Amino acid sequence: MKLLKVAGFALIALILVMGVKTLTFTLPEVVIQPQLDASEVDAQAVAGRLSKGIQFATISHMDESQFEQQAFDGFHQFLANSFPLVHQKLSLERVNGYSLLYRWQGSDAQLKPILLMSHQDVVPVDKETRDRWVHAPFSGAIADGIIWGRGAVDIKSGVLGALEAVEDLLAKGYQPQRDVYLAFGHDEEIGGDNGAAKISALLKARGLDFQFILDEGGSIVGDGIIPGMERPVALVGIAEKGYVSLRLTAKAVGGHSSMPPKHTALGVIAQAIVDLEQHPFPANMQYSRQLFDTIGPAMGGLEKAIFANMWLTEPLVERILSGSKTTNAAVRTTTAVTMAQGSSKDNVLPSESHAVVNFRIMPGETGESVKAYVESVIDNPEIEVTIEGGFAGEPSSVSKSNNDSFAMLKDAIYRVTQDENLIVAPYLVTGGTDAKHYTGLSDSIYRFAFNRFTPETLERMHGINEQIKVDDYVDVVKFFRELILGANPS
Ligand SMILES: [Zn+2]
Repeated sequence: MKLLKVAGFALIALILVMGVKTLTFTLPEVVIQPQLDASEVDAQAVAGRLSKGIQFATISHMDESQFEQQAFDGFHQFLANSFPLVHQKLSLERVNGYSLLYRWQGSDAQLKPILLMSHQDVVPVDKETRDRWVHAPFSGAIADGIIWGRGAVDIKSGVLGALEAVEDLLAKGYQPQRDVYLAFGHDEEIGGDNGAAKISALLKARGLDFQFILDEGGSIVGDGIIPGMERPVALVGIAEKGYVSLRLTAKAVGGHSSMPPKHTALGVIAQAIVDLEQHPFPANMQYSRQLFDTIGPAMGGLEKAIFANMWLTEPLVERILSGSKTTNAAVRTTTAVTMAQGSSKDNVLPSESHAVVNFRIMPGETGESVKAYVESVIDNPEIEVTIEGGFAGEPSSVSKSNNDSFAMLKDAIYRVTQDENLIVAPYLVTGGTDAKHYTGLSDSIYRFAFNRFTPETLERMHGINEQIKVDDYVDVVKFFRELILGANPS
């Protein structure tokens, strides 16, 4: 009886603690400043230029011999013609032929420069899907307040949007205090080794250290893209995952298949695949916790109580997040078995068999630590594990979300949206961006493009009918303008 009483008190105490935690789990107050430059942006003019920019099919092909030289040359000429002040007042370097690095010199060399990144290239359009586009993918059609075409959101709107902002500020006679750099790679969609990596090497050789670097990655997401979240959220990437593929190889005697051993080399590899899929990497909740600490207070009753009490509920949250492939990718190094091979004939035992497994690495881990984990899970000395050549990259550094640079970004987002319902939240980017090449050039490297996505428009990126609303594009231009002005208080 006494024990029951104690248990009862403990339960009441627990409920009380959880209740208090939930009640005090609140959003910080948002103070939204008016825009630093309240002048209108000429929507028709900027939309017209974006439309033209989309018409240059600056496609990145995996096969480098298919490089679209004419499209890039044409695009560069178009930029020079469209942004005369930028090309008059800023220095421009062509890095490795096709990547563009602009520098707008500031008045105070003591201040750290800022760097705005984007990329000129776009992904190809699948032949089979071409007739499902309402407007041809490289038409740049403008209809009913929407600009259509490949690159509308990924991300000619970033390249041209930044140039529009600078051109506009130059026309007003504005002079920044900090140096403002614009860097537009030309091969982001195939890894950025020829573009962003080369620009980064150049900037490092010059010993530059940036106040902040901003690339694409996160966006403003609404309409329940984050389950349980009804308010819009501006997701700002503070880190991105790494990439490595491992080759598993098993050797055997081979021979005829009429008298097979218990396991062929392919069977041995198959067992390793099963083991790997059954033993996912341990979860790392660090980034999800940061995200939910920020947006949790705005969620509904039960979710709010759960996220307010992560000290108790974290194992439950971890299980839920691990259950969906999207959120699973945000909490651990992922394992994707992508290729496998046995012998070349049905009646021949493989003398060698292999599989290739692709991993997206959490910050804090490395390609080597992933290999070590895989070897321990497979636990079979007959299988050789090697790092597959080709593309590989360690996870990025992790930037802070509680410093001046993050505040500059956050304030600019609020000044453009003027939306106190919006929440700006740090998160982990699970895909890859050019920003990974810039690790070491700033302690504040953020991944955010001022795009507004619904579940439907998000699908169109890299997909069919990519588009951006003219009004949203006007806000892209305003965002860059506000960001530059806010980073240079006069
Ligand atoms: Zn992109």
